[in-house]
Amino acid sequence: MSDLTFEIQSHPAPRSAEERAALMVNPGFGKVFTDHMVTARYTAARGWHDARVEARAPLQLDPAAAVLHYAQEIFEGLKAYRTVDGGAALFRPEANALRFRRSAERMAMAPLPEDAFVEAMRQLVSIDRAWIPDTPDGSLYLRPFMIASETFLGVKPSSEYLFVTIASAVGSYFKDPTGTVTVWVSEHYTRAAPGGTGAAKCGGNYAASLAAQAEAASHGCEQVVFLDAAERRYVEELGGMNVFFVFDDGTLVTPPLSDSILPGITRDSVLTLAREAGLNVKETPYTIDAWRADVKAGRLTEAFACGTAAVITPIGRVRGREDDFTIGDAVAGPVAQRLRALLVDIQRGKSNDAHGWFQKVF
Ligand SMILES: *Cc1c(COP(=O)(O)O)cnc(C)c1O
Repeated sequence: MSDLTFEIQSHPAPRSAEERAALMVNPGFGKVFTDHMVTARYTAARGWHDARVEARAPLQLDPAAAVLHYAQEIFEGLKAYRTVDGGAALFRPEANALRFRRSAERMAMAPLPEDAFVEAMRQLVSIDRAWIPDTPDGSLYLRPFMIASETFLGVKPSSEYLFVTIASAVGSYFKDPTGTVTVWVSEHYTRAAPGGTGAAKCGGNYAASLAAQAEAASHGCEQVVFLDAAERRYVEELGGMNVFFVFDDGTLVTPPLSDSILPGITRDSVLTLAREAGLNVKETPYTIDAWRADVKAGRLTEAFACGTAAVITPIGRVRGREDDFTIGDAVAGPVAQRLRALLVDIQRGKSNDAHGWFQKVF
């Protein structure tokens, strides 16, 4: 257990109930922020200290802060949900805390104690509870992150870090939450290489994916499909989501974890729920050639992407320089819908949580 305690300095002038209500009518994703944030500092000499819940405000950074030059930065994403009894709950925050630690280790950063991470989430949800939407698709998206804050231009692990968590009231990630997405198979760009940082949740991975995302958008596609960097054959991930394939014999396939695949908590939850639902679950490599052939042969009935922000999003159409095929009738399939319902019901406290995933905040 860490002895880090959070000093609470409430916002002197939080927004009024009317202002908040107006902002939350149609919040979209990542645009509407709450009144507070959590911060904590690390120095090699003092360890983690100065943990606070305080008014959300711009950060002050020296222009020579290491993060601005060498991108030593990691983040997380998790949601707090309004529960049926009017309270709030987090979904598997310990899993995010553990992954944050592992990302820190990969990026040679000072890990934040996992209990302090979870406590930071609980504090922020509690103080900004009025910002948790009570709509069916709404939630409070928490964005913890850590940056290298040492003022030094030498290339080495920073000796100082700043941990921050902000919160955003969100609706659904895609405009049409019942629809499907069209994805673009990137031939030229890859997301992550063996030995690289693909399994760490670091901003640099996203920076590297944006050109591919722009290419996808220029072809009218919402997301990119990344193939493995070594052979350009195996389907690894979407831009920021893990990917699953459903077959007509009740098999569910997802690529196995490696150092080029981000270990999604939604992915892990879906694997568990699918096994319990009696699907034949396989974590096995799957090629773009097999995807094309299995769709043509009618063996593959659904494909979907998953992640905290977008939950489970069915893939309707796959395009690329060599490809343009539709999966089923390009509508949300029954397996994706069922798994989504199982997951969402646990997240919102509507069904029995046999796994200890549902963590009440108040
Ligand atoms: C965050 C992320 C995911 C999804 O992880 P969840 O824990 O399910 O939200 C998948 N892929 C990438 C690249 C990610 O950054």
